[in-house]
Amino acid sequence: MKDLYVIIGVERSASYDTIKTNYQEKAKQFHPDKAAANTDPSVFVNVNKAWKILCKPELRRRYDAELYEYESTRQWPVNEEISLGDFDKDFADEEPFYVRDCRCGGQYVLPECESRQRSCLVICCDTCSLSVRVFVTNLLDDVDEEAVLEAVKPQKCSV
Ligand SMILES: [Zn+2]
Repeated sequence: MKDLYVIIGVERSASYDTIKTNYQEKAKQFHPDKAAANTDPSVFVNVNKAWKILCKPELRRRYDAELYEYESTRQWPVNEEISLGDFDKDFADEEPFYVRDCRCGGQYVLPECESRQRSCLVICCDTCSLSVRVFVTNLLDDVDEEAVLEAVKPQKCSV
């Protein structure tokens, strides 16, 4: 999981203004029109993605929660990191759940109610000792990468 605060170059407790100032500096530094020719354009995209999340208090709160969940489950030895979309839904029951086959023949089972309370969690196989880390939401996936680049294409750098 990417640490958006590191991408922007601020402390996690940074104020909106500090984040904005740092974002503007980074965006200027890595802007496709201004950066050195060998600069990886994905840096600019990532800086913009980070800003789009951290500039909105509600998204920032959600991201902070995801980051916390991620870090508090990071000590667990996990064999794979997957998203909720990698699971099959079994919603026929009264208590719906997500299920994914383990390579041992066993299954990872995630009750749907639990997936609504957490943004990132670790599940153990019901048969062997393997476990997976599941990202229920991923805010970064919601930010359209092409839109970021498209937005800076026609006009000159506005930051
Ligand atoms: Zn297994």
